[in-house]
Amino acid sequence: MSDKTASALLADISKRRDDLVALTQDLIRIPTLNPPGRNYLEICEYLAERLGRAGFTVDLIRAEGAWGDSAAYPRWNLVARHEGGAPGDCVHFNSHHDVVETGHGWTRDPFGAAVEGDRIYGRGSCDMKGGLAASIIAAEAFIATHPVYHGAIEISATADEESGGFGGVAYLAEQGWFAPERVQHVIIPEPLHKDRICLGHRGVWWAEIETKGRIAHGSMPFLGDSAVRHMGAVLAEMEATLFPLLATKRTEMPVIPEGARQSTLNINSIHGGEAEQEAGYTGMPAPCVPDRCRIVIDRRYLIEEDLAEVKREITRLMETVKAARPSFEYEIRDMFEVRPTMTDKDAPIVRTTARAIEKVLGQQAGYVVSPGTYDQKHIDRIGRLKNCIAYGPGILDLAHQPDEWIGIQDMEDSAKVMALVLAELLAG
Ligand SMILES: [Zn+2]
Repeated sequence: MSDKTASALLADISKRRDDLVALTQDLIRIPTLNPPGRNYLEICEYLAERLGRAGFTVDLIRAEGAWGDSAAYPRWNLVARHEGGAPGDCVHFNSHHDVVETGHGWTRDPFGAAVEGDRIYGRGSCDMKGGLAASIIAAEAFIATHPVYHGAIEISATADEESGGFGGVAYLAEQGWFAPERVQHVIIPEPLHKDRICLGHRGVWWAEIETKGRIAHGSMPFLGDSAVRHMGAVLAEMEATLFPLLATKRTEMPVIPEGARQSTLNINSIHGGEAEQEAGYTGMPAPCVPDRCRIVIDRRYLIEEDLAEVKREITRLMETVKAARPSFEYEIRDMFEVRPTMTDKDAPIVRTTARAIEKVLGQQAGYVVSPGTYDQKHIDRIGRLKNCIAYGPGILDLAHQPDEWIGIQDMEDSAKVMALVLAELLAG
């Protein structure tokens, strides 16, 4: 690509700034709340109309039978494809269209999409409707300046990323939409900041641990066996040995923030004994020895770790507790697991994006790995496509917060980076 072609493309994107803002506002104003999964069809139809006008062929795909899909809340996805007219690779931009609940603390209308200075406020502005809008503007500008090009461009807007992506990217990947024969490069415009390339994420293991006891009258606890006291011993053992051990496990992955560059464990919840009564119940609790206690653990593991060993660590800990407590019984139930993934720094999509960042921003690209997972897990594992990154505008810390916003200049700059990626991969 000549410098002249590149500057024409970048100038074209600058001219589309008002359109970029209006598109982002329109997307924010469709409240695609998940859970339960509202307005998925509305946002897909809006995008179908827009991309259809730009010459894309559009498919609306419902993830029938996937987790979360129901008659009341159907899981709708959109895949739009534009052919360049000459043989070549396909570059795919994947954004999730769902947003999380608004929560408390907003000082603006979460779905008003107010523009104040360089910012657009609203739930999903940063995570990740701003990134979706930037990728659409990038594609439209590239197509306008390159009537014929090699390969194809795809834009997808998918459901349920915030709740695991099973009715979204996982479903599409199972149906072959990300098969390496039809898609060769994937950019997920999650808000990782306009000068950074996100190569992947840590692994996840969720499990429920239950301790078991025997119910008895609370005035004679020696006749029962307290599952809560057993769980107390489990938690004490975690504090004494497990948390210190996890702190020593460090990764070579460039995870951000720095604190997540090690193995971590969160105890999501704890429940034991009699259930809490509904609000408004005016009675007293009954005196019972708790016979069951459960915790849910969320273990994030590193690419250097083995999932089987991660699980054995917990079993060993439980056995240590058991050795000191004659009546101790427990059960560990797997709930959910995701393998860690990290795209090679030499992969074509990484190198091309790094060069584009340098050209647009005049600085070297940073490389990061996400502490939590996102839809790359499905593209990698089900889709078998390794040439995938997350790259998009926005500040990750603002995601899921009150008064979430996206910077307009950041969106424009990332749209320019994405357009240059298209130019280098498809116009060469
Ligand atoms: Zn997101």
